[in-house]
Amino acid sequence: MESNEHPRITREKKTIKAMVEIYCKAKHNREKELCTECNEFIEYARFRLDRCPFQENKTTCGKCRIHCYKPDMREKAKTIMRYSGPRMLLHHPVLAMHHVADGFKKPEDAKIKIIKQ
Ligand SMILES: [Zn+2]
Repeated sequence: MESNEHPRITREKKTIKAMVEIYCKAKHNREKELCTECNEFIEYARFRLDRCPFQENKTTCGKCRIHCYKPDMREKAKTIMRYSGPRMLLHHPVLAMHHVADGFKKPEDAKIKIIKQ
């Protein structure tokens, strides 16, 4: 969709999708397609990532000082990450390692980009 999207953001979207898939499969008994609720969550997470002021300099959302998610989505994110986080190492080791490395980035050091709305 966005041709100028930074690989970091593309990867973050992949990570979120992978985590939601693990969660939905286990908790909502879905095999191939995600349930409506989980699909909505992915859409919301992508929408927030597109508008993240840190973009390629961002840390992981769990460590960010802004916390741009609305409260109910943030709760859902926490629940999904708590369940899928440890399982990511088994299912998607490369994405999981990137995610850990990204968590060490300090958003305070990053330049905040002004995003055109
Ligand atoms: Zn689900």
